[in-house]
Amino acid sequence: MQVIQSSGHNGWAVRCDLCEHRFDAAVAGQAAAVAFARINGWVVGETTRCPMCATARVG
Ligand SMILES: [Zn+2]
Repeated sequence: MQVIQSSGHNGWAVRCDLCEHRFDAAVAGQAAAVAFARINGWVVGETTRCPMCATARVG
């Protein structure tokens, strides 16, 4: 999952495939970052979508 990248000392960053939205998770591990993003409405898997893109399904 290249969309999930270490954002340095602050944790992990998840980027939306469809827009410029980014979710920063201040957690220790990638798996925790994915779980945290999903709790916040993100779709993380083969594609990554922010809550707005996941709801809109535009395109
Ligand atoms: Zn998006």
